[in-house]
Amino acid sequence: MKKIIITIDGWSSCGKSTLARQMAKSLGYVYIDSGAMYRAITLYFLRNHIDWTNESETTEALSNIHLSFTYNEKSAQSEMYLNNENVEYFIRDLVVAEKVSEVAAISSVRTFAVSQQQKMGEKKGIVMDGRDIGTTVFPKAELKIFMTADIPIRVERRYSEMAAKNPNVTIEEVKSNLQMRDQIDSTRAVSPLRMADDAILLDNSKLSMEDQLDIALKLVAKAL
Ligand code: C5P
Repeated sequence: MKKIIITIDGWSSCGKSTLARQMAKSLGYVYIDSGAMYRAITLYFLRNHIDWTNESETTEALSNIHLSFTYNEKSAQSEMYLNNENVEYFIRDLVVAEKVSEVAAISSVRTFAVSQQQKMGEKKGIVMDGRDIGTTVFPKAELKIFMTADIPIRVERRYSEMAAKNPNVTIEEVKSNLQMRDQIDSTRAVSPLRMADDAILLDNSKLSMEDQLDIALKLVAKAL
């Protein structure tokens, strides 16, 4: 059966990764969370006190970073490894979320991540979610989805995810982090978040996960 590339871009906490993961599972495709790569790079920079406003320090640091995904049978999810350490838990922290958009706006960081993402799609049969996947990483993808949802819904979703891990986190912190990331992501000079001209808009504010998957799979059938 013919395999295609599916891109899912959109605002923070719209449920992109939930949909991408479910689509990959039902299609037997690989799922790649490109945001996890930017988060892992940010974690490395924070841990190693890298001054990412310094170009040569950033380039040197990137040369010491090896990123990979490994499927975890227990969680039934593919997890992010930074230099062979499973960092899935650490990259979801608010400390990383506070800095990731700043780091992801750096040109050398994007070149580093994008070239690896493009390699992952060489054999097709992939669903990748992020901010610039349909515009920059795979501009020729057969199916591009752009997701959006109302702000209070997005805040609530991310808050319940984060509060389960860290009971000290507040809804205001989560909301301001989402808004800050959306602002930086959509206004940066390199590959800003925007909907590709040939992408299909999916607003899931009022959709159940089942409805959303159903719509997306119909789009796949059409694209095939
Ligand atoms: O998808 P997630 O919210 O985990 O992404 C974290 C951050 O990584 C985003 O806010 C954005 O700054 C950056 N990102 C990006 N390009 C992508 C994916 C994520 O700039 N393709």
